[in-house]
Amino acid sequence: VTFKELGLCDELCEAVKKLGFKHPSKIQKEALPYAMKGKDIIGLAETGSGKTAAFALPVLQDLLNEQRPFFCLVMSPTRELCIQIAEQFEAIGADINLKTSVLVGGLDMMAQAISLAKKPHVIVGTPGRVADHLANTKGFNLKHLKYLIFDEADRLLNLDFEKQINQILSTIPKKRRTFLFSATMTSKVHKLQRASLVDPVKIEV
Ligand code: AMP
Repeated sequence: VTFKELGLCDELCEAVKKLGFKHPSKIQKEALPYAMKGKDIIGLAETGSGKTAAFALPVLQDLLNEQRPFFCLVMSPTRELCIQIAEQFEAIGADINLKTSVLVGGLDMMAQAISLAKKPHVIVGTPGRVADHLANTKGFNLKHLKYLIFDEADRLLNLDFEKQINQILSTIPKKRRTFLFSATMTSKVHKLQRASLVDPVKIEV
């Protein structure tokens, strides 16, 4: 099966081809059709499975129809993972003027605030720093967010980001699309799933 056959638009088919993706990976094959139809997704998948593109491509396909700022928030547990995810979005979005911001601890709040002032489409961050910016950075809010993505949810919750995640959830629209990716389904992940996803499709690879 090809990306095109899964419903990916020509622009994004071209983008993944440029990155050397010949065929969709298993998680992409299973998640993309549902994600592009607007379903919430739970993906049980490890790093290396191609999960980043599995969530980035549906977001970017939808963004092409309605270019607006603060469209998607991805939460991931570590600075390195956040940077990798942002790089993957930027690589796929290279030809569509995609703007991203990375909000992680240990880096300058002010530089991140300046990046937010440029109204990025996609924000990738650790829950602690995202919550800090929501509380302290003027002009930044997620009232019009359309996509919320939890990456490595089991690790996010092991790092005790629960409080900040709940803070963030309280400021974003209930009507949105949510994708949750995790290597394992723990009781904390299950609880987060029940609190934040609506009638999700579960995909295991
Ligand atoms: P991830 O599991 O998202 O960390 O992705 C692992 C690596 O696989 C990344 O470097 C991606 O660029 C690459 N990748 C993702 N999807 C594909 C694909 N369909 N074909 C080839 N490589 C891919």
